[in-house]
Amino acid sequence: MSDAAKSGDVAEQGTVYLVGSGPGDPELLTVKATRLLDEADVVLHDKLPGPEILELIPAEKREDVGKRAGGERTPQSEINARLVELAREGKSVVRLKGGDSFVFGRGGEEAEYLAKHGIPFEYVPGITSAIAGPGVAGIPVTHRDHASSVSFVTGHEDPTKPESTVDWEALAATGGTIVVLMGVGKLPEYTQALRDAGMDPETPVALVERATWSDMRVATGTLDSIVSVRDEEAIEPPAITVIGDVAGTREAVLEFLR
Ligand code: SAH
Repeated sequence: MSDAAKSGDVAEQGTVYLVGSGPGDPELLTVKATRLLDEADVVLHDKLPGPEILELIPAEKREDVGKRAGGERTPQSEINARLVELAREGKSVVRLKGGDSFVFGRGGEEAEYLAKHGIPFEYVPGITSAIAGPGVAGIPVTHRDHASSVSFVTGHEDPTKPESTVDWEALAATGGTIVVLMGVGKLPEYTQALRDAGMDPETPVALVERATWSDMRVATGTLDSIVSVRDEEAIEPPAITVIGDVAGTREAVLEFLR
């Protein structure tokens, strides 16, 4: 192939934009995300950006790569391959993720795969639910008087299993805020792990369900009570768990929180 033909090929190749949608309120999309959604030929997404944002995207541009008909997740390898395929067709592709693509969004894996296959991509930051979720419930993840560090962890793993990679004991020892994503199902296991690590059972805990969506809910308790609160309120994913003294500061601002 001649050099001209080669460079011609490169010019025709589309770009993949790894775009974070923010937590769900369309007004929290970045200006850049809004423009790219408008300009894109195809938008690959799952359900996490939330109904209000997904409704803004014309149906003919949308490709749902979340759960498949049988209810199981589309394998990441299939999503990766589809991104490359579309880019090679010269399409402008938005890979839209809830929150920020690089916070438990598998954006890192997609970036690596694209780079390996010679596909140009751009990372477009989004507002992560890990910070905005607690915030819209009136909980700052750090606070001069209460927490000088914050840890973002996955609650997806079972802390009692040896292959668990989250060190709950070390997290308890930080004395800072712990924000758990994907942490509704395993709430009993990791709250127990934190108590076993010596954390005060009266430590405030909040669950923020569907943060910034029109049907958002907040439920609060302590390390000891939060599992029964979750069950009574029937809290479901997506929800953020905030553990630490900052969760207790909510009461003081609630009356004036809009
Ligand atoms: N990349 C995302 C996180 C993906 S992991 C981000 O930066 O926000 C999926 C988890 O994110 C969910 O299980 C939930 O814990 C959290 N999450 C995402 N959006 C949320 C929302 N609007 N409200 C509450 N939790 C949310």
